[in-house]
Amino acid sequence: MNKTNKFIDGLLLEMSIDEKIGQINQIGTSIYGGKEEHYEQMVRESKVGSFLSIKNIEKCNHLQNIAVSETRLGIPLIFAEDVVHGFQTVFPIPLAESCSWDTALMEKTAELAAKEASAAGIHWTFAPMVDASRDPRWGRIAESFGEDTFLTSIFGAAKVKGFQGDISNNRIETDRIIACAKHFAGYSESEAGRDYNTVDISWYKLSNIFLPPFKHLLDEGVLTVMSAFNALNGIPSTVNKSLLIDTLRKKMNFSGLLVSDWNALAETLAHGYCKDEQQAVSMAMNCQLDVDMSSQLYITHLKEMINKGIVAEEALDRAVYRILSLKQMLGLFENPFRSDKKTWQTSTFQHVFHRDIARKSAEESIVLLKNDDAMLPLEEDERVLFLGPFVSDKQAMLDTWSCCGKSEEIVTIKDSIINIDNYECLEEEFAWFKHRGTLTLKGKQKIQNMDKIILFLGEQAIESGEAKSKAVLSIDEIQVAFLNSVSQLNSNVIVVLMNGRPMILNKLVTKSKAVVEAWHLGSESGNAILNVLMGDVNPSGKLTVTFPKHEGQIPIYYNHFNTGRPYREDKFNTSKYIDITNEPEFSFGFGLSYTEFQIAPIKISKISIHQWLVSTSVTNIGSRGGSEVIQLYIGAQYGQYIRPVQELKDFEKVWIEPGETVQVAFTINKETLTYFDENFNKLFDNGEYLVMVGNSSKSSWDNMERIEVK
Ligand code: BGC
Repeated sequence: MNKTNKFIDGLLLEMSIDEKIGQINQIGTSIYGGKEEHYEQMVRESKVGSFLSIKNIEKCNHLQNIAVSETRLGIPLIFAEDVVHGFQTVFPIPLAESCSWDTALMEKTAELAAKEASAAGIHWTFAPMVDASRDPRWGRIAESFGEDTFLTSIFGAAKVKGFQGDISNNRIETDRIIACAKHFAGYSESEAGRDYNTVDISWYKLSNIFLPPFKHLLDEGVLTVMSAFNALNGIPSTVNKSLLIDTLRKKMNFSGLLVSDWNALAETLAHGYCKDEQQAVSMAMNCQLDVDMSSQLYITHLKEMINKGIVAEEALDRAVYRILSLKQMLGLFENPFRSDKKTWQTSTFQHVFHRDIARKSAEESIVLLKNDDAMLPLEEDERVLFLGPFVSDKQAMLDTWSCCGKSEEIVTIKDSIINIDNYECLEEEFAWFKHRGTLTLKGKQKIQNMDKIILFLGEQAIESGEAKSKAVLSIDEIQVAFLNSVSQLNSNVIVVLMNGRPMILNKLVTKSKAVVEAWHLGSESGNAILNVLMGDVNPSGKLTVTFPKHEGQIPIYYNHFNTGRPYREDKFNTSKYIDITNEPEFSFGFGLSYTEFQIAPIKISKISIHQWLVSTSVTNIGSRGGSEVIQLYIGAQYGQYIRPVQELKDFEKVWIEPGETVQVAFTINKETLTYFDENFNKLFDNGEYLVMVGNSSKSSWDNMERIEVK
């Protein structure tokens, strides 16, 4: 942002304290239901700078009109929204989309979401969420890019690019929106996986797991950051000076706008931290928390506090400067109405191209977890029966933050197979089973007579997302009983899973021959799933999060540390459970294909003092073309601090024709090997490093070399 912006400086000089405070007040509550007039009046009185959650172009423009024509200075409003995975066209949830490992596609879906949202009058999205998420009990894992810091960083950056577009000339095009990196910081580590719970993270984990994605997004130009609800190491993030000033503003060099999470400023009292609202306001201003989402504490107390000299007016000016700069970047001073009803109506909503991309990203998000006896893809002329609670549940395809996605525009598997003669859907069978505890006669006959049975099982959409923490992660008993009854009649069972988090799948894996992880895939769910089942699309998704075998293993993630007793295979190896294995059900980076890829042993050559080239060749030894994600991991053997046994550092997704061999190469340099100290300064150790390449975190251990860094 241009710090010597004359236009904004001039405007600031003209503004009264009241007008300034209004700018940093965000109305974060639904303005409907009798409250519209009240909020219109607030706009007239210059008491609002931005609104959240209007989603209606006519209402946005109506309020904008009041702001620009009925207030003294005519300062336009900003309209914000949680545009997370689509707007009207709904793309896969972020956790699903991350399994595509396709950054270009992830950028594209954000771009299309921005186009649809901006046509509806929206300027600012509260996305992407870049909280690396290691606890599947936490419902918001659905909104994350999985457990890994590196992937969260680059996938988050792709989203920022897609939302904001090219901002190099300090302008945001009319069909793009401002992005927001959230939630700063540590929100995903809420104790016991319970949303909003307290967070205690060592500086080592904070610096190395949770902060780097934010730094990366700031380097990539994200314009705004949101502070987190949670208390971090004893202080609510929203008023945590060491976090917001020392780390965010100073170490990370962030000069953009910081917004609180919803009502989080008022919640500093509920945390048992601030003694009263005025203290919360004073601390937040000291932390350069620019915009108060929803609590209205700024608008209630700030004027009095400035008048009494408790808060300096310069602090207010700095915050106002930041919001006005965003309004300027959006071009709102020249054109406050970036869209209108006509643009909205003729806009690209449900445009064929958007649906196409929605389908493609859904196809790429699907992860094939098991495929015994080559159950999949389905063969021509096979008679297939589709069953289960989610065969026609449109809502289950949408999930958390599905914005303006309408369930009637969603394609389920039942819709997709409608014209295929040898496929049949028994939509009511599960509901019958749930109430009666048995299958129908017709159901039994069909199950016995069909070649293959495809069961759509998992979680309802409302079981993941904000405030949707769960302690039990297995599929519910009735679905397991249904699966058991079906598999007793026909063993050719394929399970398609719809869910927003890693689940405990052992009961399901043993009773089925194939398992397809389909998450919540959005508008084009049915078509994408069908294309994968029929083999028109060869699945290529790879898990970005570990699937535990048991809830007791949580937290479980691939980049864990060594212990001092790795050599003991007996009962004194205290890092092992005595009742269950340490191994996950499915590891990070894992995902099958309908073809098979062979990765040759890696070769490492030193290019210069701190640069190595790691190369390998990958051959498709099966009979279908397919994409494979080749993953590079490193593991430091010793140093100033213990390092994870392996860490993902790079990957390449390559398409390979049957019989074809492609070369893949990665570069390792000093940057690849750095990590962070307590003050978020870079650390680097000479020494021995393992270098591993594979098609999952687990398989990479079988293709490993060592390098000596001097
Ligand atoms: C969530 C944020 C979201 C905000 C506004 C909060 O409950 O934590 O991620 O942006 O609401 O909807």
